[in-house]
Amino acid sequence: MKSADSGKKQLEFLKVQISEKYCLISDYLHFTGGNYNLSQPCVNIGMVGHVDHGKTTLVKALSGVWTDTHSEEVKRGISIRLGYADSPFMKCPKCPAPQGYTVAETCPTCGEKTEEHRTVSFVDAPGHETLMATMLSGAAIMDGAVLVIAANEDCPQPQTKEHLMALDIIGIENIVIVQNKIDLVSRERLVEHYHQIKEFVKGTVAENAPVIPISAQQNINIDILIDALETQIPTPIHKIDKPASMLIARSFDINRPGASIDEIRGGVIGGTLTEGVLHPGDELEIRPGIKITTEGTTKWVPILTTVSSIYAGATKVEEATPGGLLAVGTYLDPTLTKGDSLTGQIAGTPGTLPDTRHQFVMELHLLERVVGVTREEKINEIKTSEPLMLNIGTATTVGVVTSARKNEAQVALKRPISAAIGAMVAISRRVDSRWRLIGVGVIKS
Ligand code: GDP
Ligand code: ZN
Repeated sequence: MKSADSGKKQLEFLKVQISEKYCLISDYLHFTGGNYNLSQPCVNIGMVGHVDHGKTTLVKALSGVWTDTHSEEVKRGISIRLGYADSPFMKCPKCPAPQGYTVAETCPTCGEKTEEHRTVSFVDAPGHETLMATMLSGAAIMDGAVLVIAANEDCPQPQTKEHLMALDIIGIENIVIVQNKIDLVSRERLVEHYHQIKEFVKGTVAENAPVIPISAQQNINIDILIDALETQIPTPIHKIDKPASMLIARSFDINRPGASIDEIRGGVIGGTLTEGVLHPGDELEIRPGIKITTEGTTKWVPILTTVSSIYAGATKVEEATPGGLLAVGTYLDPTLTKGDSLTGQIAGTPGTLPDTRHQFVMELHLLERVVGVTREEKINEIKTSEPLMLNIGTATTVGVVTSARKNEAQVALKRPISAAIGAMVAISRRVDSRWRLIGVGVIKS
């Protein structure tokens, strides 16, 4: 705690009092949700799959009427800046499932006013092949996933395969497969494509996942999809009696350029609580914190601050619980949170966060072959001094192997992480000039 205290002194030099007037974080974060009375989302669902297969369109179809009040720019903001959107699943009190499920305020079948069933948060994973690290950090906060596969292309496409492999080895078991763009293909083709999917998922975590044919663009079978999500991806049991622990996925400086000193708002962090609850006024420690070099020596100092406000989607809340993505306002100097600088760190109750590690030993579980490439090469053993890309929680760091045995490797990290013994590590290696997932590790010491 001593180093954290000195961190507090050094870092909170701009302790601005944030007034109500300047607390409209949601205005800056571009969340969906015109309805301020929605409950906090209780489950995070990943949208994964190959680029252009329709993930963003599907998130829009599932956010339905709530995005109508927002401009196109704001809607784009969701997938570009944040990569997530909250979605209220509504249910008609009169119609049975699946027809009764919708995202609209009125039932499309009978016109009755709908009731909120469950609010979920979608984490939109980029399908572009160079963004696997982002997908892997996103996977750390997913309770389940929708694997989007376009019916007008053969299955599997490279990133369809790579994303399913990631879900498989990370152990995300609650999966719904979506066969999208059914408006573009014949019935025969749809059946053929269905068989391709079943063949592809055989022996994986998605082997028994339902396959729902939809058109995200034409709003076909969205009710059936919601029904499948409601049954396949249950709300996890959250440990709210534990100290607060939040994985930071994004961090921001929400101030407009040229804002005067009394207008300045403190730094904002975005992410998901894995355990515990958080309130405005709570003390927060952020680890590993920031790098400080004094008199030639460099060390990482945890940051201490206080929560100023919390938004769950567009809703300002007095208490946040696990599930869904939160924007947490703090009294930190916004330059500390600017441009995602705290992404991958952990925030939580001071004194309870995992140790900062500059190196660790992990137990290895490597795949047999590299996936996502046309030529699927065999994966060779990990060697001393090779660089690996490591994803732990929402953190991405490069580690150089300092010693390696058959089932174990020690790595020295370029950037330290805050992680507990037993934490899972997704391991990627450079193959043909890009990082490819080769397996997982478990931190041993
Ligand atoms: P992402 O890269 O997976 O997020 O894919 P997008 O959602 O950006 O969709 C890629 C393209 O496919 C866009 O031009 C969409 O309009 C189109 N698209 C998405 N879903 C459908 C669908 O169900 N039917 C048709 N015809 N086009 C679709
Ligand atoms: Zn109805």
